[in-house]
Amino acid sequence: MSPSNDNPQTGWNFDNTYARLPEFFFTKQEAKPVGSPKLIVLNDPLAAELGLDPEALRSEANVAVFAGNEVPTGAEPLAQAYAGHQFGHFTMLGDGRALLLGEQIAPGGDRFDIQLKGSGRTPYSRGGDGRAALGPMLREYIISEAMHALGIPTTRSLAVVTTGETVVREQGLRGAILTRVAASHVRVGTFQYAAQFGEPADVRTLADYVIQRHYPELAELADNGEAGRYLALLREAVQRQAALIAKWQLVGFIHGVMNTDNMALSGETIDYGPCAFMDAYDPATVFSSIDRHGRYAYGNQPSIAVWNLSRFAESLLPLLHEEEDQAVRLAEEALHGFAWQFEAAWLQGMRSKLGLFGEQEGDAALVKDLLDLMHQHRADFTNTFLALTFGRREEPPMAGTSEWSEWLSRWQARLDGQTESQEAVRERMRRSNPAVIPRNHRVEEALEAAVERDDYGVMQRLLEALTQPFAHTPEQADYAELPAACDRPYRTFCGT
Ligand code: AMP
Ligand code: MG
Repeated sequence: MSPSNDNPQTGWNFDNTYARLPEFFFTKQEAKPVGSPKLIVLNDPLAAELGLDPEALRSEANVAVFAGNEVPTGAEPLAQAYAGHQFGHFTMLGDGRALLLGEQIAPGGDRFDIQLKGSGRTPYSRGGDGRAALGPMLREYIISEAMHALGIPTTRSLAVVTTGETVVREQGLRGAILTRVAASHVRVGTFQYAAQFGEPADVRTLADYVIQRHYPELAELADNGEAGRYLALLREAVQRQAALIAKWQLVGFIHGVMNTDNMALSGETIDYGPCAFMDAYDPATVFSSIDRHGRYAYGNQPSIAVWNLSRFAESLLPLLHEEEDQAVRLAEEALHGFAWQFEAAWLQGMRSKLGLFGEQEGDAALVKDLLDLMHQHRADFTNTFLALTFGRREEPPMAGTSEWSEWLSRWQARLDGQTESQEAVRERMRRSNPAVIPRNHRVEEALEAAVERDDYGVMQRLLEALTQPFAHTPEQADYAELPAACDRPYRTFCGT
């Protein structure tokens, strides 16, 4: 990495609070330069939100920044240390192929981590090469931007560059680096790292940092106990995760590797590895080839979130109360909040998907019976709700059965019992049921064109459709089509 890239027009405006934490939390590290960087995709609207000039970002000097060949003025690159439970097993981890360049202060004052993913080896690389391949980095770009457009908190993707180098996986692949933007990269695993390998003071330092950065309203609370700020932090983290996982479930998103190092304290979705969107509704759906026991299946995501939050709570225990049994009691109470907060957010979201206003006794049963029918008939999750939105009641595979007619009558009766106009109901459903999700076969088609043929048009068109999921334009209808062999099980791979 060359020392600096002085380009005032670009708009880089770094302030690096993470680099001010004790060195226990990171290792200062520069990216390993790459041979011939080339910009593949740049997110102009995100650049503007960050106060960056898209034209200047396209310059050779700045493409060198995205490649890790130059450090922008004010950045202090470092690799973050963390640990985590991977498929239930505790391991020391850390940024093995990523670097935090620094924190960009956007024009409104908001602070964003700017991270390079695929930037070379670090002290946390273990056996890995520190590199990433083009396909998986474009995949993260596409899915994270689709999630953002769906209104789901997520890290974002600013740019992807190819490195001009080959990364060795089962075969040689084109190397690439993703520039990832996040509210922060502090994970449950960062707390586990502090609790396992540090002093109690380190956990406190980290907790105070997270409070300052993500929950500043808690900073004034007492030191510990029932009214203390660390218990409040746990409660807030539980609440954000409950809201987040409810949103995932409502669009059929399956994260794939909900390890504790892949759960961010900001409440954003993070680390798009073997994730995918469900087609046919089935709670047991798993895409990841490495998830042999279905630990991270669609229907397990809420309970895995609680499992991960329990690891977070364990790290915080010494801060919650001086007496351990009291600390455990407080932590358990906070964790119990997940179930009802998740249920409430999810049911509210399902009401919106069905155009229901207000709350009625039978709503939960109405939703459950619909999902049971969808499961039984392997109905497509997204398209069933679209069919209901646009009055195509004969379209789902259960059409023609008496159970379907019966369910439709119950739903119609519920709609007839509310005072809102048909137009208001339709509008609510249009805004709650996406016309497009990043279906696996369409994502694969875009990646194949990009990686194999250097054709980025397919991906651009897909991104256009995905970034306005509630527009319901005629062009988007094309993206609602199911894969030709829709019963062929789709598999994502972790060799990213
Ligand atoms: P992930 O599965 O992407 O959440 O990564 C789990 C851990 O493996 C993290 O500590 C990563 O930094 C690390 N890792 C993943 N791929 C590589 C690689 N190619 N080289 C070095 N470390 C890696
Ligand atoms: Mg990870």
